[in-house]
Amino acid sequence: VGEADAEYLVSLVRSVPGFPNENVLFRDFMPVLADARGFQIMMKALELALPVPISEFDYVAGLEARGFLIGPTLAYNLGKGFVAVRKAGKLPPETIGKSYDLEYGQARVEIEQGTVKPGDRVLIVDDLIATSGTAQAAADLIEQAGGKVVGFSFVMELIGLNGRGSLGQVPCSSLITMH
Ligand code: AMP
Repeated sequence: VGEADAEYLVSLVRSVPGFPNENVLFRDFMPVLADARGFQIMMKALELALPVPISEFDYVAGLEARGFLIGPTLAYNLGKGFVAVRKAGKLPPETIGKSYDLEYGQARVEIEQGTVKPGDRVLIVDDLIATSGTAQAAADLIEQAGGKVVGFSFVMELIGLNGRGSLGQVPCSSLITMH
């Protein structure tokens, strides 16, 4: 996308200090979705910035909840299937899951058994990467199911937390970097 479009996209992100707790500067991309032009720019930019060629994956996996807002649109536009990586306790049995550490406490992601089959190649998408704990847990889960995570796509990337570094060798793209 052009410079004017990129600037317009960035201008739509709302920054909310102190939410959901006092240490966090929350980056809210809902205004991007609410804006017809902003939504189109974001989806176009995600396609242009794919971390791997389109022929190298079969599924787009979105992380609950904001990854559900972009993953299906991206998958549809690219002619791929969509896989929902859910928070714990939302899916009927049988599920497989992966627990991971948060700053305070633990969280867990789950997929329905059989959703990802051995050999499936998956691109993981979410609104934002911070420490990468969430994306890494999702990747571990997909690999536990026999799938192969070939790339990560994010709208926003918080730099300074080395989230990208923790993802190892798997290609990762983000549209907007911020502190
Ligand atoms: P992490 O696991 O640390 O990479 O955090 C990424 C997940 O938490 C994503 O699903 C984001 O939606 C959410 N998240 C973390 N930090 C922020 C932030 N500053 N603003 C908005 N969402 C965030």
